[in-house]
Amino acid sequence: MTVHDTARVVAQRIQNTEINPYEMMLQQLDMVHEYTNIPEGIWRILRTPERALEVNVPVVRDDGSIDVFTGYRVQHSSARGPCKGGIRFHPGVTVDEVKALAGWMAWKCAVVNIPYGGGKGGICCDPTSFTPGELERLTRSYASMIYPLIGAKRDIPAPDVNTNAQVMNWIVDTAQVLSGESTPGIVTGKSIEMGGAHGRHEATGRGVMFATLGVLQRLGIEIEGARIAVQGFGNVGSIAARLLHEHGASIIGISDVSGAYHCPVGFDLARVLSYVETSPGRLLAGLQHPGVEEITNDELLAMDVDVLIPAALEAQITASNASNIRARVIVEGANGPTTPEADLILGEKGSVIVPDILANAGGVVCSYFEWVQNIQCFPWEEKETNQRLGQILQRSLREVWSMAEERGISLRLAAFILGVERVATAIQLRGVFP
Ligand code: GLU
Repeated sequence: MTVHDTARVVAQRIQNTEINPYEMMLQQLDMVHEYTNIPEGIWRILRTPERALEVNVPVVRDDGSIDVFTGYRVQHSSARGPCKGGIRFHPGVTVDEVKALAGWMAWKCAVVNIPYGGGKGGICCDPTSFTPGELERLTRSYASMIYPLIGAKRDIPAPDVNTNAQVMNWIVDTAQVLSGESTPGIVTGKSIEMGGAHGRHEATGRGVMFATLGVLQRLGIEIEGARIAVQGFGNVGSIAARLLHEHGASIIGISDVSGAYHCPVGFDLARVLSYVETSPGRLLAGLQHPGVEEITNDELLAMDVDVLIPAALEAQITASNASNIRARVIVEGANGPTTPEADLILGEKGSVIVPDILANAGGVVCSYFEWVQNIQCFPWEEKETNQRLGQILQRSLREVWSMAEERGISLRLAAFILGVERVATAIQLRGVFP
């Protein structure tokens, strides 16, 4: 399968699914409702995004033809601070997906208690079909069309699925051309030379590592020799796998859109990482590794492991495959990988799930550090970033774990209660206006 074929298959898979991510986010919110005393009117505010912008972005192809791509920027809440959240380029992007992701960002920033609201952006496109020049034109046109909404004190984009530091550099430069001012804090996840933070590239994966270590320690499971399967081998999955491997874990299952692979004795991560560094589309397809057998995506999810890390897209663990899952612990590197129905099935089985809004918060926490450094024009060393990242994530896990224990509820419910209540409090303190 070529890179284009796999992108098409994924897009089709997403479009064919009955699962609407926004409905999923609302169902999660509704589950929290009965555990809080938030007034009805405030609930109505929490359930809807403040603002959703649709843009249709024309791109001149290298051959002179013009294509138009639909994109979005959604601001779920600005009650706790400027909206914050990534931008994804993916064929499965819809307004409801972006709305869901914007809501999750609001709860995520509140759970880890950084001074942001929640937002998200995306363009429905197949990024593998663009030349570098076309990708730059797409990014800059999109940036100029969402420009009225974004700003270091308004709404701060960052990388997400299929976007990276280069894409962020183009956005910050476009903003600078439009405003005539240097505003590095308008976007995070930039290259270091453009004001990016040391450690930002690895931060989401590092956060997943902290979450995994923290929960295994509480459950009395040794990290040394722990068997781990990772779905999705992009920025989050591959870095989490590498860092956990460095802590002694054995990564026995990995996958991406091109396929899933099982290595019972554990992958040689250095070898896999150096392969994807130069493989077409940075995919695992064609990986040569001793003792590896190809399996299906469903087999990967059902592997007999201590920890499963879904680090791909939303709605991967559903009512139809949840009962097959054997992992004792699930650490959600992706946003929304588990549907609410699957969550209930896993809860009954006794699986421990570290929810996305806590487990993958490392990226946005480090984005916050980058923004602080940009505002102060004072860069930090990577050591300081990683240390502070660890402190924030460990504190957040402690808070969520204690609440879950005290109230006898799941970690997801506890994280949602903590996050949603913080947003609700900010709304109430501000008062309802206009
Ligand atoms: N896209 C990442 C997320 O979903 C990071 C967002 C950010 O850094 O603003 O959390």
